[in-house]
Amino acid sequence: MMLKVSDVKQFLYCPRVVYFTYVMPVHRKVTRKMEYGKEEHLELERLEKRRGFRSYDLSSGERRYRTKLYSERLGMEGVLDMHIMCGSGCFPVEFKHTSRHPGLNHKYQLVCYAMLLEDRYGKPVRHGYLYLIPGKRVHVVEMTPNARTFVRKTLSRIRLMIARESFPAAPGRPARCFECEYRNYCADVG
Ligand code: SF4
Repeated sequence: MMLKVSDVKQFLYCPRVVYFTYVMPVHRKVTRKMEYGKEEHLELERLEKRRGFRSYDLSSGERRYRTKLYSERLGMEGVLDMHIMCGSGCFPVEFKHTSRHPGLNHKYQLVCYAMLLEDRYGKPVRHGYLYLIPGKRVHVVEMTPNARTFVRKTLSRIRLMIARESFPAAPGRPARCFECEYRNYCADVG
């Protein structure tokens, strides 16, 4: 079964979000925050085009935006915000609207894109970048063998959950449920 990179990101945030996507689809309201996020991404792309590569610790390169990536081997697809091609390799970049330290779900989302880029170009990706929009900070994520294994295991866990139609436990982090668009469908959260 083909899964999306965003499924991995959401599963690590709360597995029920993926359950509500595939096993018991429910209506999901598009929030103003989501719309605003799209506009801000476009503006950032515009500004990125004028910048150098110093924040990525690279001397030069070519930026490619909103690339559709697909791997039959991994059973995964997604659209990557940006990647940089240069002599020393290929590096994925995801833009994030957070001023806090990036979450594990963001880190593994980037690892998924690195694995898809490896399939696309046939060469290893050593690291990638999370660009934190509010503070204009760049956070480096190393693509370790353990991180790749964790992504493969997460893909298997998602497929198993869907095949068995098993309703997962809530993440036990009330702050996540407080802002969640699926809150009405989870009767057991406060
Ligand atoms: S309300 Fe909480 S448990 Fe339910 S989907 Fe959202 S984050 Fe997960």
